[in-house]
Amino acid sequence: MRTKQNYGGLDVFRLLAAILVIAIHTSPLISISMDGDFFFTRILARVAVPFFFMVTGQFVITKFFLSKESAKDELLSYLKKVCILYGIAILIYIPIGIYAGHYQKLSLYDIVRIFLFDGTFYHLWYFPASLIGTTLIYVLSRFMSLQKITIIAGLLYCIGLLGDSYFGFIQNAPVIGSIYNWAFQIFSYTRNGLFMAPIFLLLGTWMSKIKWRFKKNTLVIGVTITFLGMTAEGFLLHSMNVQRHDSMYLMLIPTMVFLYQLLMRCNPIKLPGARLLSTWVYVLHPAMIVVTRIMSKSLNLSKLLVENSMIHFLVVVVLSLLSSFILVMVIGYSNKKQFLRGRAWIELNRNALVKNVKFLQSQLPKDCILMPAVKANAYGHGAVIISKELNAIGVRAFCVASVTEGVALRKSGVKGAILILGYTHPKQFYLLWRYHLLQTVVDYEYAVILNQYGKKLHVHLGVDTGMHRLGERSENIDRLCMIFEMPNLVIDGMFTHLSAADCMEPKDQIFTKRQVDNFYQLVESLRDIGYTIPKLHLQSSYGVLNYPQIGNDYARVGIALYGMLSTKEDTESWADSLSPVLSLKARVASVRKLYPNESAGYGMAFIAEREMIIATITIGYADGLPRSLSNGAGEVLINGKRAPIIGRICMDLAMIDVSRISHVKEGDTVVIIGKCENEVISAAQLAEQTGTITNEILSRLGDRLDRVMQ
Ligand SMILES: *Cc1c(COP(=O)(O)O)cnc(C)c1O
Repeated sequence: MRTKQNYGGLDVFRLLAAILVIAIHTSPLISISMDGDFFFTRILARVAVPFFFMVTGQFVITKFFLSKESAKDELLSYLKKVCILYGIAILIYIPIGIYAGHYQKLSLYDIVRIFLFDGTFYHLWYFPASLIGTTLIYVLSRFMSLQKITIIAGLLYCIGLLGDSYFGFIQNAPVIGSIYNWAFQIFSYTRNGLFMAPIFLLLGTWMSKIKWRFKKNTLVIGVTITFLGMTAEGFLLHSMNVQRHDSMYLMLIPTMVFLYQLLMRCNPIKLPGARLLSTWVYVLHPAMIVVTRIMSKSLNLSKLLVENSMIHFLVVVVLSLLSSFILVMVIGYSNKKQFLRGRAWIELNRNALVKNVKFLQSQLPKDCILMPAVKANAYGHGAVIISKELNAIGVRAFCVASVTEGVALRKSGVKGAILILGYTHPKQFYLLWRYHLLQTVVDYEYAVILNQYGKKLHVHLGVDTGMHRLGERSENIDRLCMIFEMPNLVIDGMFTHLSAADCMEPKDQIFTKRQVDNFYQLVESLRDIGYTIPKLHLQSSYGVLNYPQIGNDYARVGIALYGMLSTKEDTESWADSLSPVLSLKARVASVRKLYPNESAGYGMAFIAEREMIIATITIGYADGLPRSLSNGAGEVLINGKRAPIIGRICMDLAMIDVSRISHVKEGDTVVIIGKCENEVISAAQLAEQTGTITNEILSRLGDRLDRVMQ
């Protein structure tokens, strides 16, 4: 499981790599030394593009191997992004290409070749190469291991080498030479999506898997030695005059491996904007070369700005950075982040969430994966924000209560399996089908209706082993068999729900054991009859914590994932392993004095006995602050101190007594759930005060609250 890390080194190098690409296309040293230029642009700068492929490998290709179910989604969303970028680049460069006379007498065949391999402008080959490379790996990953694909990619690279830096050796060989010459009519170079991209994409994936324990110094030595080797290789091939092109070297591979490991280890500065900036520098720099030429011609400065290669390079770098920066600012401005802490909001602690996921996963058998319950807006936390975060750390299955919850997740791009635990009306079956949602079969009669829909629906079969809420009774084997026989139901899973797993009294343990036995007996009977057993699951949070060993394919964890349990007592006894993800905060709207005998709020429910200072805060029962905490029953935290709630909690506001807290002013932050200096109020505590369970407090937190991950 990957946690979000800062790879500052990669970010910084992204920009450097983009500048190296500019060097390749402007040859800064050419007016000083030919050898210097060869070294700089044909050897050193050749690390740039492989580096970009490796980044894609680390962050995109890796996901193809995490989960088969979501790999296709990952591929498609990556392809979409690249296609959009490629499309924009094509639009920018077609006029320039026409101006430069690139596209004269093109046949249909030329057009296909240009779009698929060469790119519509000289640097744009990178985009089709990314598209072809990732798609190729995706297809192979359907039936091959990462190791095998890497070997194939290595072989492809060798074939590519022979058409690139090593071409001279085979150029005149009888059969091979002519094969290559024929191939060069399909693509102008072998440095493309077939022969060059795959190996570096895969190396990027390997980088996310293996973390060398070498010291930084060792890595520096490694880069130096391999790069010297690559330099020697380059000059040798150059002097032998065998290079047809100079993008691919043998030593480029070990050089990149050491370099990348080193960059992953360095964290000089955070440069979150570097990704976008480097992409645009890559896309825009040839246009800036044209701009520089036109500009210097019209200013009569060609001698200085074009013929002096170093100055030319610097001008292009500055113009490219500048134009990209402006573009990134414009894009950023148009989707400027909203301020999310204005009135009342929820802060989500990413580290706590990751920690809880890891802990729960560690409790389960190895093959059992988490299927977090993100119903009821992820127990108030925010279903989309939580599910996307879980997606990012490799979680690939979710469960929700209703079809609309499932659709909302899909529409915001959540990937993986989404199981609807509850009832879906037949008029909404089309949504199941359209959004690839898994429906629970709540009993035999419902299965019949689902089957009548006509299109194949993917379902999980609910089994009632004793809770008597939903699911076909486990003893009704014949009815369960009939469900298995229904032609339009694809049964991906089968599950039951334990109704007493939260309590470890002997009677509860006996009851739970009976439920588990009923479930597995049913599984055995179905197996004996000859049905293929689908994925199985039966634990929710308490099931995982109290009965970890019964884990099967999935565990449907809800409350524990959010770092709490239903009661205060349980929450406290698991506090070492589970950390609360959510804090609830609001603002002070107004501070005022209240004189003796004055009342505050509706119904004169509070009357001041002495002069006091009260503050009105921007949260009310519509946001989920239980109204039963009115009149001193509840407290909030402000400036590290406890302030009692006074009067009746209103729909949107509440009032607190801050007489004993100094310097309270408009705009101050108030903590309703969470920490404030040394004081804490937990959701479990609120639940206990209001006579309910944590789950209810959380799931009632309103839609109106902003939700921020941090
Ligand atoms: C809500 C729910 C869960 C998750 O329960 P937690 O106790 O919050 O972990 C699991 N299974 C079903 C059927 C549910 O309805």
